[in-house]
This record gives sequence, C-alpha cells and structure tokens, in this order.
Amino acid sequence: MRTTVGIIGAGPAGLLLARLLHNAGIDSVVLESRDRAYVEQRQRAGILEQGTVDVLRAAGAGARMDREGLPHDGIELRFDRRRHRVDFPALTGGRAVMVYAQTEVCKDLIALQLKEGGPLLFEAEALAVEDAGTDSPRVRYRHEGRESVLECDYVVGCDGFWGVARKAVPEHLSRVFERTYPFGWLGVLADVPPSHDELVYARHDRGFALLSMRSPSVSRLYLQVPEGTDAADWGDEEIWDELERRFETGDDWRLERGPITQKSVTPMRSYVHEPMRHGRLFLAGDAAHIVPPTGAKGLNLAVGDVVTFARALVHLGETGSAERLDAYSETCLRRVWQAERFSYDMTTMLHRAPGATPFDDRIQLARLDRIATSRAAGTDLAEGYTGFPLD
Ligand SMILES: Cc1cc2nc3c(=O)[nH]c(=O)nc-3n(C[C@H](O)[C@H](O)[C@H](O)COP(=O)(O)OP(=O)(O)OC[C@H]3O[C@@H](n4cnc5c(N)ncnc54)[C@H](O)[C@@H]3O)c2cc1C
Repeated sequence: MRTTVGIIGAGPAGLLLARLLHNAGIDSVVLESRDRAYVEQRQRAGILEQGTVDVLRAAGAGARMDREGLPHDGIELRFDRRRHRVDFPALTGGRAVMVYAQTEVCKDLIALQLKEGGPLLFEAEALAVEDAGTDSPRVRYRHEGRESVLECDYVVGCDGFWGVARKAVPEHLSRVFERTYPFGWLGVLADVPPSHDELVYARHDRGFALLSMRSPSVSRLYLQVPEGTDAADWGDEEIWDELERRFETGDDWRLERGPITQKSVTPMRSYVHEPMRHGRLFLAGDAAHIVPPTGAKGLNLAVGDVVTFARALVHLGETGSAERLDAYSETCLRRVWQAERFSYDMTTMLHRAPGATPFDDRIQLARLDRIATSRAAGTDLAEGYTGFPLD
C-alpha cells in the first residue's frame, strides 16, 4: 500500500491528523494496533482547551461536542478549608474550556474517518518505521495475520508513549528529559451527578484530590495515592471517605456519593523527547511528550502538534517551501515546554510529596494564596489552563 502520510496510532492525535489532511485534500492511511471498541472506551482526558475546541469545530468534528459538551468558565481551588474560584473569561479576555471526554472526541473522529476519510485499519500493528532519513520512509505492519509495508512520503508517529515510531530516531540524535513523581492518581468513574458545577482542585495535608465530570450524571474523581498503588486495594466506601476528607470546606458543601463503575491508577510522569522530527518521520502527541495530568494538557498538546504538521504540509503544497516542516520540532517544542512547566507547577503546588516538610506545606499554601489574592497570579494560571497559542 502507498500513501502520502502514513499515520501510526488512532488516538486523538492520529485521528485528528487524518481529518485535517482529508479536509486539505491530502491522502493518509491510519494504522491502529487495537480494535475500535478499545480505542472508543479508553478513559483518559476530559478537558479541551479553547484552541482545541476551535480546531475541532473548524475540522467539522465539533457538532456533538457543541451539543453534549459542558462549557466551563472556571475552576475552584480548595485549600486550608477555603474555596477560591479562578474566573477564566474575566482573566483571559474571554477564553474558556470544554468538558468533553477523550472517548467522545475519538468516537466522533472515527465515525467521520470511516464515513468520509481514507483507510483506518484497526488491529493493524506497526512493527517498525524504516528509512526515516530518506525521501521514501516505510512502515512495516501486521494486519489480519499478515505482514505488509506502507510506503509513504511522510510518517507521523501518533502511537503514544509505548509506540514504535520514536525508536526510529537514532539514539545518538535523541535527547530525553524526564521526571517521574513518587505518586499517582487513583481515578474513579461514578454514576452520580457532579457535586460542583466546575472542576475542584484540592490541596490537602493528606494529598491532592480532583473533582471532575464526564456528563451531568457521571462524576470523575481522583485521589493522589503512593506510586505503585493497586486500585483493587481501595474499597469504594474507603475512596468516598478519603475524597470527603480532602474536599472538606469551612461551609456546608457536601460530596454526593454514588456507585463507582470504574477504578484505575495512573502514574505521573513528565517526559520530552527531542527532536520531534527525524528526516521524514514526525512525532506527535504522547509519542514525543508526556505531562502529569494535573494541568489537563496531554490531549491538547497532541492537537497542537498535528495542527502544526498539517499546516506545514499544506504550506509546502501551496508555496513549495518546506520551511515550516523543517521548523516542526522547534515550533512544537516551544509550546510543549510551556505545557510541561505549567503541568509541573500545578503538580508541585497541589500534591503532597512523601517526606514533605512543614516548610514545604506552607510554601504550597502561600502559592495558592497568591493566586487567590493577586490578579496577575490568577491570570497566569488562567492563561496556562485555557491554553497556550498554537502558532
Ligand atoms: C488518567 C488520565 C487523565 C488524563 N487527563 C487529561 C486531561 O484532562 N486533558 C488532557 O489534555 N490530557 C489528559 N490526559 C492525557 C491524554 O489522554 C493523552 O495525552 C492523549 O491520549 C494523547 O493522545 P495521543 O493520540 O498522542 O496518544 P494515545 O491516546 O496514547 O494514542 C496512541 C494510539 O496509538 C496506538 N498504538 C500504539 N502503538 C502502536 C503500534 N505499534 N501500531 C499501531 N498503533 C499503535 C495506541 O493503541 C493508541 O490508540 C490524561 C491521561 C490519563 C492517563
């Protein structure tokens, strides 16, 4: 098989890229190792930045998001039994975010791709990217028990952190910047209306907690837990009791309980691979970088990368200039590092590290108090949360 752009991975990055290229009249083939049901059910991100919302709408993939998504104009910070609301539009000149699950973004993009786009092969596992440094890179893959080759003009590795694309960048050209955190998130889905109409980020001496939502009737809640925790070690009532403690306030706010339908633990990691391009292989999304989920940036960064790639390829077609493709890695990395910094700041401000001292606790509270009392500090958080510009 031959195509202009071979895309490895049908997560948000690969699916959106296929859609953007289709809209620009550029053909592509998407290879996805898992089956459709798995990709559509995998619970992950839920917050779309303003720029991501705009991109999905412009790509013709925003209709259901606009019907069913929940626009949010702020978040609540909770610390020392106090509550402080960060008002995004007031601080950013009108920007906001949308709560719409990654599963739904993927379902919408898969439906569009299968109806209007080029081939999207499920259960097609990329085995290796070959000849990335030449003008005709290839993806070797296995589909329906047979090995085949996808000949491409360009390959985009959208295959997540555990994919194969990154391995095609020679080791001596790669630099990795990494930090792992000594804690993770125990995440639960619960069939209960969210106890607050916006996300609540709570800093507590017992650890961080986050109240989020998937819909008006489904809550998504997280607890900071020690690294290596097994979700099965936590009973449902124990989870609710701990959430209640960490969300405690000085007023009469109450946490509603309901049946927990899913439980899992996510490790926390910051990771950047440089460069994000080698020859005609481009890395996008989690294949190139990971952020701890505290800043809600992972999916949004993936969107930024593929928009940058698609625009650069269109620019090449329209002008003959490869300047933007050549600048892909630097363009993306500027935004990536801002998101890394923001996610790191949010993580270290809100989580209690093992061995934290009373001094560390006071510094965290002072950082939160600064956001609550200084418009400049509040604006910095609001700008970071609603998203850094794409260009
Ligand atoms: C619990 C949790 C909460 C999160 N919350 C947020 C949030 O609120 N906001 C946010 O922006 N981000 C969040 N994230 C991060 C976000 O989910 C990821 O950044 C996002 O999924 C990245 O998309 P991607 O397309 O780059 O990679 P992925 O979604 O990982 O997709 C990669 C795809 O490639 C496929 N693949 C892998 N290897 C191969 C191969 N060899 N051949 C073919 N296919 C392959 C995989 O099956 C997968 O479908 C969260 C993540 C987690 C775990």
